[in-house]
Amino acid sequence: MSHPTDQDLRNYALDELGRYKKFRIIEHCKECPECAERLIEAAREHGPEPEPFRLSKWNKISIVVMIVALLAVAFGMYWLLSSVGQSSARDLLETPAVPEGTPSLSPEEAPQEGGEPLDPDAERLG
Ligand SMILES: [Zn+2]
Repeated sequence: MSHPTDQDLRNYALDELGRYKKFRIIEHCKECPECAERLIEAAREHGPEPEPFRLSKWNKISIVVMIVALLAVAFGMYWLLSSVGQSSARDLLETPAVPEGTPSLSPEEAPQEGGEPLDPDAERLG
């Protein structure tokens, strides 16, 4: 039995051989550890490189869809704010807690307790 050539092994690693030729090489490597080693070497040199973070086509598509969705949400928010009106949109962004016009209890405006003088008539009668 003749040994497969380096070219054969390389083509095997690149998956460019027909099924029958691959079968013959495999059958040969079962009986010939030397060629099995060569085949492993060829696969290591020419085979597809293992990429741990390799993204499949569908992974990429789902990422693109996710980014598009995020952009759509951001654009929707922007459109919502700008459709309310430039000034009010700015107010919403800058003063989110207390909208203008809410009555605030400042010390001056708070009702004074005990400030009223006692009724003079009550003192006179008692
Ligand atoms: Zn061999």
